Amino acid sequence: MSDFSVTLPSGEAWTPQFVQNINEAHCIGCGRCFKVCPRGVLELVGLNDEGERLAVSLDDDDDDEEYEKKVMTIAHGELCIGCTACSRICPKKCYTHAAAQV
Ligand code: SF4
Ligand code: SF4
Repeated sequence: MSDFSVTLPSGEAWTPQFVQNINEAHCIGCGRCFKVCPRGVLELVGLNDEGERLAVSLDDDDDDEEYEKKVMTIAHGELCIGCTACSRICPKKCYTHAAAQV
């Protein structure tokens, strides 16, 4: 087993770091990561006080009484290309990434 990597046109080897987890306890639901992800991997959800997940949009008012807080989630991890744009822009260091094994 070794890390999956590709060879760029420059000849440089690049090892994609695929998204593994978002720390919901640290996430403030700011949506920065959602805006930079080029692959539609992420989805913002609302958590109510019973832990239920509700559909929300980035434009929803935080004062909405249906949920306690908004958090980012991984909705389509299979679409991730491992670019790490999400973690580089996250102000709360919520992301965990890892190389794929081949
Ligand atoms: S690593 Fe890139 S493709 Fe994957 S979730 Fe983050 S921004 Fe999207
Ligand atoms: S950038 Fe970080 S804090 Fe903001 S929504 Fe994404 S994971 Fe949460």
